[in-house]
Amino acid sequence: MANMLTAIAKGLGTTLRVMFKPKVTLEYPEVKKPRSQRFRGRHELRIYENGLEMCVGCELCQVACPAHAITVIAAENDPNNPRSPGERYGYKYQVDLLRCIFCGYCEEACPTECLHLTQEFELAAFSREALVYQKEQLLARAPSHFKVPENVYPPYTGRKVLVAE
Ligand code: SF4
Ligand code: SF4
Repeated sequence: MANMLTAIAKGLGTTLRVMFKPKVTLEYPEVKKPRSQRFRGRHELRIYENGLEMCVGCELCQVACPAHAITVIAAENDPNNPRSPGERYGYKYQVDLLRCIFCGYCEEACPTECLHLTQEFELAAFSREALVYQKEQLLARAPSHFKVPENVYPPYTGRKVLVAE
């Protein structure tokens, strides 16, 4: 009997001790654990502050990718209605997240700082196709703080594009 009471007291003591400690669990998905600054999640293609796309279709990210997860097809810009400040823009841009190992090499290779890996980690889907992200899904929803550089070729004349299509 004495042993049993001791065991109960010990158990309750443990409960009381743990009860007032800070919680390690979160009410996910309402509350999400902050990611570290270095976390690499879903890709995003930035756009300039005036709405032009930052991707110039150079394909360096595709070449740098060790998993062959990126497909870029570039096209010539229409000088009267450019999509990016440069000769070309990313006509097709695709990231296969099933192949991606989130190494960040593509981000490092990008000369315009267009491509970056965000903090988004909720990437589950019900089909393989849904995990192949197309350009429309990858383009940033809002312009970034980046300004169009002055030394682009052909020289950018300052045509204003408000929303990237
Ligand atoms: S993070 Fe790495 S594996 Fe994923 S697309 Fe970029 S280079 Fe390829
Ligand atoms: S995302 Fe960057 S590296 Fe990739 S094609 Fe566009 S400009 Fe080039």
